[in-house]
Amino acid sequence: MGEIQLYDLTKEYGNLTAVDSIDITIPEGSYTMILGPSGCGKSTTLRMIAGLETPTMGDVSIDGEIVTDLPPRKRDLSMVFQNLALWDHKTVRENIAFGLKMNDVPKDERTKHVERIAEILQIEDKLDQSPAALSGGQQQRVALGRSLVHEPDVILLDEPLSSLDAKLRIEMRTELARIQQRIGTTFVHVTHNQEDAMSIADEILLLNDGRVQQFGDPIDLFEDPNNEFVADFIGTPSMNLLDATYVDDEVQPHLDTGGFQLAIPEPYHEIYRENIPSPDVHIGMRPNKLRPASNGSAPEMPSFDASVSMVETFGDANWYYLDAGTEEDLIMKTADEDVIKSVSPNDDLTITVSPDAIHVFDPEQGEAYT
Ligand code: ADP
Repeated sequence: MGEIQLYDLTKEYGNLTAVDSIDITIPEGSYTMILGPSGCGKSTTLRMIAGLETPTMGDVSIDGEIVTDLPPRKRDLSMVFQNLALWDHKTVRENIAFGLKMNDVPKDERTKHVERIAEILQIEDKLDQSPAALSGGQQQRVALGRSLVHEPDVILLDEPLSSLDAKLRIEMRTELARIQQRIGTTFVHVTHNQEDAMSIADEILLLNDGRVQQFGDPIDLFEDPNNEFVADFIGTPSMNLLDATYVDDEVQPHLDTGGFQLAIPEPYHEIYRENIPSPDVHIGMRPNKLRPASNGSAPEMPSFDASVSMVETFGDANWYYLDAGTEEDLIMKTADEDVIKSVSPNDDLTITVSPDAIHVFDPEQGEAYT
């Protein structure tokens, strides 16, 4: 239960298309994140699923039933808002039970429900306190409890972590993922934070300007971005993106960035010839896919020379800024102890990259060619 289908879902405000023909299926029981920069249409999409906003075109269906014209309370879903909207003059128990009371659920049953939910959320010992006396994370759980108590098929969360500090945010997102796994309800969670989405989502719907950029699991978005927007938005640090020329040389096809050349190994010649229609391209390489050449590096691996202009240390990984003659430095990110011990600023290195990790994009539209 809890599969959501969006059919060409569109919302216009006057001349502005806030959401443009979203056509996806959110799998039942998934933790799906709607991700994208501010103003890209995330909340509007969520609010159309909730029934708080009427689509200009298209439909929403839940478990095969078109619900586009149903009011929110007739949809089997519940929403957790950014400002948790808890009542401090009521106890946690009363906050969680409020909706049940409104629906005339008898007192005994209310108590049973509330205690079961409190157990799932591990706030059994807080039931008789005011939410004001709880930590931010505990308040979050109370807000979630108020939604879970209705046993909806779908829970919608609008930026539920945005008011938390960095440490608590990480704890809470793990907790949300655990709770979702425990109860198996479909969660649809709006965020602008790609790390939150990458860390816990089963599926990410990445939007920009109201349009779907990519919908898939986090690894797909990271490893196989549809376009430059996805490549750039996902990952810390961002993908290295460069202007380049694809030179379809008979002897050695290569990519020329102006600063360095990347030779394309033989097995990839045909793929490049078939997919890249003109010489002007953008290329992208993830910082974690760059590594210094070693004795063990395959000789046919594309490589280039660079000098280390700066190193940033994060404890668990280092970022190396590489001057390879291009306008901006490239970044190499590694947690490899041998590299961390041996590479210093001003070192000259040969950097290798697997041909699978070189992305080539249309420089106009940004679509991925390879
Ligand atoms: P996000 O949640 O990604 O920040 P929203 O869905 O809130 O984006 O908004 C998408 C676009 O629609 C924005 O340009 C926003 O200004 C516009 N918008 C949202 N709600 C309204 C409204 N009620 N009237 C007019 N424009 C709106």
